[in-house]
Amino acid sequence: MVTNAEHARKAILRSARRARKVGRITPAAAFALRHRCFPITYLIRNILTLQREDPWMHGSRRVQKNRLLRILEERARIFLEVSKWIREKSGGQGWRHQIESAIEGPSLPSGYCSHCGGCCEIASGFPDFPPDTAIPSRWQRLFGDGMGRGHRFCAFLWELDASGRSLCAIHPWRSNPCRVFEEEECDYFMKDLKTNPLFDPKAFSVTCRRLSHLINRG
Ligand code: SF4
Repeated sequence: MVTNAEHARKAILRSARRARKVGRITPAAAFALRHRCFPITYLIRNILTLQREDPWMHGSRRVQKNRLLRILEERARIFLEVSKWIREKSGGQGWRHQIESAIEGPSLPSGYCSHCGGCCEIASGFPDFPPDTAIPSRWQRLFGDGMGRGHRFCAFLWELDASGRSLCAIHPWRSNPCRVFEEEECDYFMKDLKTNPLFDPKAFSVTCRRLSHLINRG
């Protein structure tokens, strides 16, 4: 069965191909979007959140489109930068290595983590990294300050092999606050989700169509 995430990815990629041809998005953004770890699902959820906020609701279509394209380009830039860094750190194995360690562990806590990504849908976090961290100081600041206007999830949140599930791109090097978010915190978060769900699948599809449309139209 084709999942929501797969539908979304296909629709966005079709739009991005056309947008790339007419120069509406940069080649770098088009390249990043094609990557199976690019967080398309979280980008759509990001837009879903923005749609509920006043500045978005009251903005014209043109303003919405410009904001969206800016968010997309900024995401693509950090995604490509992190991918390059991981490739160097993992001796050229890159994102496949990240996926394998995420699926097989032991780098991710097993058993309770469903990779819903909800705990990483934060604009910023406390930038407290282990003292011997390899994470560049600029990225530590990025984690602390967030990616800027309109961004509603962590700069290092990726998608697990185009599945709609989450993958922390810097899991072995993540911050201390991320390390202390464990089963008990997850449980608490999940209980809250029962009353305040992350998103409704129908709204997700509608937003995905809207996003494709916005990327694609001049
Ligand atoms: S650094 Fe990783 S674990 Fe921490 S919020 Fe970002 S994606 Fe989630």
